Amino acid sequence: MDAEFMQIAIALSIENVRSGRGGPFGAVIAKGREIIATGANQVTSANDPTAHAEIVAIRAACQKLQDFQLSGCDLYTSCEPCPMCLGAIYWARPDQVYYASSREDAASAGFDDEFIYSQITLPVDRRKIPMRQALQQEAEAAFRAWEEMLHKIRY
Ligand SMILES: [Zn+2]
Repeated sequence: MDAEFMQIAIALSIENVRSGRGGPFGAVIAKGREIIATGANQVTSANDPTAHAEIVAIRAACQKLQDFQLSGCDLYTSCEPCPMCLGAIYWARPDQVYYASSREDAASAGFDDEFIYSQITLPVDRRKIPMRQALQQEAEAAFRAWEEMLHKIRY
């Protein structure tokens, strides 16, 4: 753990509030001693509900490295990742994640993602946002095409 990188993530989270760009969240992605990318929450300024600090940083780091994985990198975030960011982190596959505030700290500031965590474990027909399956047979064609593709880039 590099305290300097976490201090930068925390400074980004505070600066983000003061500048009015978004919520109190910042992130840093580092490879060894080098900062690859940073991110801060831009949900309200970019009208993008997915623009959490971690996602912003992951996108910037992947663009900079010209890679869709962050192996060899560490992610520092000012707050424990929400379920969406946790998913993005698992897809990006950094080596390690460090967080400062806990999700309980975030909940007491009005950012409660416990609701999403509880929704994930429910059967799809019992979730708040209805999910229903449709045209499963037709959609299989995409997987057949993928299986038949010769030079695919697996991820
Ligand atoms: Zn998030």
